[in-house]
Amino acid sequence: MSTREDIFKNVVSHSKEYGFVFQSSEIYDGLSAVYDYGQLGAELKNNIKTYWWKSMVQMNENIVGIDSAIFMHPKIWKASGHVDGFNDPMIDNKDSKKRYRADNLLEDRITKYERDGKTQKAAELQEALDNALKSDDLSILKQLIIDHEIACPISGTRNWTDVRQFNLMFSTQFGSLAEDAEAVYLRPETAQGIFVNFLNVQKSGRMKIPFGIAQIGKAFRNEVIARQFIMRMREFEQMEMQFFVRPGTEMEWYKHWKEARLKWHLALGTPAESYRYHDHAKLAHYANAAVDIEYEFPFGFKEVEGIHSRTDFDLKQHQEFSGKKMQFFDPEINQNYIPYVIETSIGLDRMFLLTMCNAYKEEDLSEGDKTDSRVVLKFHPALAPVKATVMPLTKKDGLPEKAREIMNMLKLDFNVQYDEKDSIGKRYRRQDAIGTPFCITVDYESLENNTVTIRHRDSMQQERISIDALHGMIAENTGWAQLLR
Ligand code: ATP
Repeated sequence: MSTREDIFKNVVSHSKEYGFVFQSSEIYDGLSAVYDYGQLGAELKNNIKTYWWKSMVQMNENIVGIDSAIFMHPKIWKASGHVDGFNDPMIDNKDSKKRYRADNLLEDRITKYERDGKTQKAAELQEALDNALKSDDLSILKQLIIDHEIACPISGTRNWTDVRQFNLMFSTQFGSLAEDAEAVYLRPETAQGIFVNFLNVQKSGRMKIPFGIAQIGKAFRNEVIARQFIMRMREFEQMEMQFFVRPGTEMEWYKHWKEARLKWHLALGTPAESYRYHDHAKLAHYANAAVDIEYEFPFGFKEVEGIHSRTDFDLKQHQEFSGKKMQFFDPEINQNYIPYVIETSIGLDRMFLLTMCNAYKEEDLSEGDKTDSRVVLKFHPALAPVKATVMPLTKKDGLPEKAREIMNMLKLDFNVQYDEKDSIGKRYRRQDAIGTPFCITVDYESLENNTVTIRHRDSMQQERISIDALHGMIAENTGWAQLLR
């Protein structure tokens, strides 16, 4: 059985081996911090998106979804503060020439102290880090790195440069001729596409405050240092919702969304102790309250989602920079105002990694002298990429035909696979490794009485059920209702 440290490595290699995640441009030696999703990864990703979209948009009468473009007017990023302030503190090691985020080096040291049981030291460093970030004092960050004797993992030396700021936005040229081309940015967050469409949606949808606008889409950040697989990527996807409220009610809504979002995570059956809230010590320029929902990955607690009270900052800035009024007339109080905003922002790729880490289990099935084990992905059935696999016991005597009949009946509504190769035991293991909740075995009895054997992934128990009951059983166990109720 693997140690905690090995588990993450195993999740990464398992993701590749079974077609969940590949390094981008792998045959050209890859592109740093860019990844492709394979055949099962794309299914899992779509299922996570569907769960989020259904629970945010479909379940809330006052939330609608949009899909805005990645390219936006360059002035938007000036207005939002990203051109001037979207920076990370970086530090270089002079010997290895490797670049790191200064705050990440310190966070890793805190995790190490916690692991080693040095809780007092961990708390002190956390406080010092929070204070340094709050005061934007880069020299304190460097001093902390020196004081805590943090060495470069590559060179092993403590020969550091000063800490500097680094803007994370990618820019590109817009227009066909280089001379009149204008620099545009690849969006670093999807939120601004929502803010600039606030009035379009409000008016065309006759929305009344409070209401929300949700969107799922790509975002791009030139991260100083890319680490931990799909945890920190340069191209990634966000699922964001901006909830527009009457000024003065924002804290109430902040509390509401903070609780609602954790509930969304826990509904998947993830143990509650794997999650924690982390209040921001340093608030972003636009926020008056902010909390992260963190999950305990094999490498420690890390942010998966942020809930931010963004005040009226963004709409006010866009009103000023565009010259267009960004106000709402509230008939209940007979007043015009710029709404306040609560944002929920979750990284789809981080949620994907969380789902993989949480599902991945190495199980010892040894009995007596017989050693046996399996790797199983215990996904919530609603997220599982493949819902069921149909397996004829043998490749002859009409069993494949019967299996195909079942397959054709199920594939209209579920993602199902057909597998007739190798022994049933080997086929079960293959399905365990990709997290398929149900294996359906078609045997000779199936031809006589129209029943099949269902084998359950987690309990490995088998039961005989009528083929007529199959569709209903799979629908009930893999459907969204159990998560959304
Ligand atoms: P971090 O502190 O980890 O850089 P952040 O606070 O900058 O994250 P936000 O700007 O709040 O992140 O973005 C919202 C969510 O988008 C994050 O909670 C995270 O899940 C996701 N996210 C942000 N940056 C990345 C990235 N480089 N790769 C993958 N997901 C990301």
